Amino acid sequence: MTTTSPPHAPVHARALREGLLQLDPPRLIGSRCAGCGTTQFPARDFCPSCRAESGQTHVTLSERAVVFSYTVVHQAPGGRVPYLLAYVDLEDKVRVMAQLEDLNGDPRIDMPVKLKLKVVRFDGEVPIIGYVFVGEDAPTLEV
Ligand SMILES: [Zn+2]
Repeated sequence: MTTTSPPHAPVHARALREGLLQLDPPRLIGSRCAGCGTTQFPARDFCPSCRAESGQTHVTLSERAVVFSYTVVHQAPGGRVPYLLAYVDLEDKVRVMAQLEDLNGDPRIDMPVKLKLKVVRFDGEVPIIGYVFVGEDAPTLEV
């Protein structure tokens, strides 16, 4: 049997950091400035563009992005290497640092990618959800 409905995260899963993302549908959460329209991630209480200290509204960000730049990390404390670390530009004109996975080929500048939420560790039995960006054909949620 096949299904076209989006995959759902277990209800007990928790974001890597409060307010960083939502699970259903999978999205990063940023903030948008009422004064100048600047969108940023992660969400902040002030605007780095016009320096407004109020008027920041939380917004869900686009799951689509293109690779701005990337590097291959060969040494990391306690983690699996090598891995790809990138800056990706979301459609919301927000630059996000994240790992790249499941690219179906070599990474390249301007490559279209999309958000994927995945379990990055466990807190007891509670899965802690983080984010990576993957190739356009890869699944977007892994729990
Ligand atoms: Zn602003």
